[in-house]
Amino acid sequence: MSEPKKHIVIAIDGPSGTGKSTTAKLLSKNLGITYLDTGAMYRAITFAAMGAGVVPSDNKAILKILNETTIGFDSENHVLVNGVSRETAIRSPEVSAQVSFYSAVPEVRSALTAKQREIGNKHSCVLDGRDIGTVVFPNATFKFFLITDIKVRAARRHAELLQTGKTVTIEEVEANLLLRDSIDSSRELAPLIKAPDAIEIDTTQLSIQQQVKKIQAIVSVVA
Ligand code: C5P
Repeated sequence: MSEPKKHIVIAIDGPSGTGKSTTAKLLSKNLGITYLDTGAMYRAITFAAMGAGVVPSDNKAILKILNETTIGFDSENHVLVNGVSRETAIRSPEVSAQVSFYSAVPEVRSALTAKQREIGNKHSCVLDGRDIGTVVFPNATFKFFLITDIKVRAARRHAELLQTGKTVTIEEVEANLLLRDSIDSSRELAPLIKAPDAIEIDTTQLSIQQQVKKIQAIVSVVA
C-alpha cells in the first residue's frame, strides 16, 4: 500500500506483551508509513544509563545520559544506541527489570516525548507504547488499546526470549510483566492508562495477523 495522502498518527498502547510492537510494525508496513517503537527508546536510555552506572534517582547524571545518547533505528527497525545495534541487549531480562524505573523519571519522559512528537509530526506514523494516545499524541487519528490474558502474554514473551538464547523461566517473565505493568500504571507522569476514546482490543485469542486485520479494517476507512 502506498503512503496515505492525509497525515495520520496511529497510537497503539497497552501493557507489556500484548503484541503491540509486532502489530504496529506490520500495520505500518501495510500502510507504507513510519513505525516508532517508543518502548525501544525507553529501553535504549535504560541500557545507556545502566552501562554508565547511572541510577534513576541521579537527575544530573540522567540528563547527561539523555544529552549524550543518540537513539536510532536501522532499516529492520532494530535499535541503534550511539550508532551501534543493541536490539538484543535492550530486550535482555536485566534491562527489562530496570526500564520501568528509568521510564518514570520526568527528564527521561520529557526528552523522549519530544523526540516522538518530532517524528510523528513530520511523518505519518504508527507509534506503540504506554502513553501515546493520552500524552504524546492526544489528538491521534486513531487510538487502540490492546489487552491480553497474563498467561498468554508471559508465554509469548518467554518464547521470544528463548529465541534470543536467554535462559529465563516463564514464571520470571510473568513476574517481570506484572511488575512493569504495576509501576507503569501507578507512576505519576504519563501512566499506562487507556485513553477514553481508544478502541480496546482483547488479543488473547487473536493471532498477530488477526490483530493487524482488525486494526487495519478500522484505519483503512481514512488511510
Ligand atoms: O514496550 P516495551 O515493553 O518494550 O516497553 C518497555 C518499558 O518502557 C515499559 O515497561 C515502560 O516502562 C516504558 N515505556 C513507557 N512509555 C512508553 C513506552 C514504553 O514508559 N510510551
